[in-house]
Amino acid sequence: MEIPKFLIERYQFWKKNTFEDYKNIYHQASKTAQKPIAMIITCCDSRILENTIFGGGVGDYFIHRNIANIVPSKNDKEQNVQTLSAIEYALKVLKIPNLIILGHSNCGGVEYSYKTLIDKKNVNNFEYINKWVSCLNNSYNKIPYNLPESEKLTFLEQENIKQSIRNLHEYEFINKLINENKLNVIGLWYKINSGLIKFLDNNSFIDLD
Ligand SMILES: [Zn+2]
Repeated sequence: MEIPKFLIERYQFWKKNTFEDYKNIYHQASKTAQKPIAMIITCCDSRILENTIFGGGVGDYFIHRNIANIVPSKNDKEQNVQTLSAIEYALKVLKIPNLIILGHSNCGGVEYSYKTLIDKKNVNNFEYINKWVSCLNNSYNKIPYNLPESEKLTFLEQENIKQSIRNLHEYEFINKLINENKLNVIGLWYKINSGLIKFLDNNSFIDLD
């Protein structure tokens, strides 16, 4: 096993600079249990820097990433264990009061799902991804047929966030926390090229600027 040079150099830079500047905060964080202010469920996409966007410090955000930031339905028993175990820990153990679903533009997972659903010829021989993106089938079925082609992927990305929030309500322990006002669920969509974030207000996405 060879450790890539970029990893060593970047680590050493961080250790000598950033860590050095914040070492008291890191030291303090190791002495107490974590108490994050929000859980963020977002996409594995390398362009989503959630801690940078929301000014995250040590211990602020409890992060879960998966392809296309999906919270699977309770009925998707083969798909939901990983994401739901992260949510269960966040809510039952850490008692985090805010749960953010952060979707984004140019999402490769959403685009792949879309392409495979419009034409089966686009289905690749993936051992796992095909099954995972099938979680988006319901959202795909909600795309209005008369929507301009250029807007369909954005619609699907945003509908996926709405569906994930609806799916959260299917889990009794989550639904109970929401109904008791102990959990605030927030839907966000991030546009990579402009940095714009839209938030879900009732059933529409509104600029957060
Ligand atoms: Zn994505």
